[in-house]
This record gives sequence, structure tokens and C-alpha cells, in this order.
Amino acid sequence: MTDRTVTLAHLFPELLNLYADQGNISVLRHRMHARGWTLSVTPVKLGSRVDFGSVDMVLLGGGSDREQQLVGRELAIYREDFATAIEAGLPVLAVCGGYQLLGEYYELQSGERIPGLGLLAVTTRAGKGRLIGNIAIEWVSQNGESDGKTIVGFENHAGRTFHDYAPLGRVLKGHGNNGRDHHEGLQYKGVVGTYIHGPLLPKNPHLADHLLAKALAFKGCHEPLDALDDALEWRAHRSVLGMLGVKSGEIRA
Ligand code: GLN
Repeated sequence: MTDRTVTLAHLFPELLNLYADQGNISVLRHRMHARGWTLSVTPVKLGSRVDFGSVDMVLLGGGSDREQQLVGRELAIYREDFATAIEAGLPVLAVCGGYQLLGEYYELQSGERIPGLGLLAVTTRAGKGRLIGNIAIEWVSQNGESDGKTIVGFENHAGRTFHDYAPLGRVLKGHGNNGRDHHEGLQYKGVVGTYIHGPLLPKNPHLADHLLAKALAFKGCHEPLDALDDALEWRAHRSVLGMLGVKSGEIRA
């Protein structure tokens, strides 16, 4: 019998949980449970250790600069194992500060650099003024194609992030990675990096299922995910599109 448990490592939940990033886990748990699966969450706190070989998925949330500094130091010990797992396709959802930490560094306004894991060729510098507000993006696939789906949420970051990977999407309203190139987030193998908090997944059930499908595939299970009743989730999604003046008829929610 297949083991119907997906194991998610939640890195530094006590430090990286800005804007209830933890809410993403409730969504994943609910969506797995509805399909007869169990989501087992392993909180990895400062000082504890995780075996990346035994996890199916990772969540790295956002944090303030101070919290990022604490985590940045601790993360170095995981670098090799985490890199191996990412290259093997481990699904990772990295939000805001967590997204920055997967990269090479986050440079503060003072010029001080908080080292990241250097797992991805991503750099971030704090700019003058924060990039804040509701955001809507057009989701693009890793090869740059779009089937018109949107992702919505809220962003609040000083960091301006630059990289040459596929973005998670093109900014329709809001700021995204750096407020300049209209890109938001990043996709590389199983990694989704994004500035979208809110939390991200409650209003974006299609993205939650995308991550779950990747986690199941990573476990070697290719069963399709049954459709769920997401009427409420889509109402919330469309209400953000409406607030931002993005017509969901033009770009499909
Ligand atoms: N401290 C980082 C920034 O402001 C990340 C903030 C966050 O996670 N919301 O860019």
C-alpha cells in the first residue's frame, strides 16, 4: 500500500512567519486531507536539524531583516543537503525573506550583507522605500508560456531582487521582484520563490495544487489530484483582482 503521507519541513516557523505565511500550511493540509492524504509537518527550529532526504516539500516564510539575519547564519549548515535536494526536484515554497535567503545575499541599506544560502543565482538589495500593497500577476510556466491564470496577494518588502530564472509571473498590478522589470518571483525545478504573502495559498488554490502535484511526483506518485469545491477561494481571488481593477475575464483566475 502506498504511504499516503506528504512530509513538509517548515524552516524556522518561530522566525519566518510574517503575514501568517503559516496559513499556507493549513491550505496544503486541507487540500491533501480532502484527497485522502495526510500532511505531516516537521517544524525545523533554530538549533534543530532536518534530513532533507526524508522530506517531500519545504516551506520557508518571510521575516524582518533582524530575523533574516538570525536565520541566515543558521542556514549555512544545511547548504549542501538542501542544494542536493533542490537539484533532485524537491518542491520548495519560499516567500519574501525566505525567497531572498535562497539567493546569494540580501544587502541592507547600510551596505551590510545578510548572506543567503547561495542555492540560486539571485541577489537582493534593500532600496529606498518599501514595495507595499496588493498585487496581481499573470502566472507563467517555466518556459515562459501563460494560459492566462492569475495569482494574487499582498507584498511588503524593501528588497529589490534580480535574477535570470523564469519568474513566477508577470506583474499586472503591484511591484514584484524589483518594481522595474515587471517580473514577480522565481521558478526553478521544484522551487517557487515569491514576494506574495497574504498568505499566498488560500486565495490561489491552483498554485497550492501545483505545489502538491510536485510534492506527490517527487515522492514518485503520479495520481491526479481530484478537483475540490473552491468557490470561496475563487471569490476571494476575484475580489483582489476587482480591488486592483484587473478584469478576470481578460486574464483567467
Ligand atoms: N526583510 C525583507 C525585505 O524587506 C523581507 C521582508 C518580508 O519577508 N516581508 O525585503
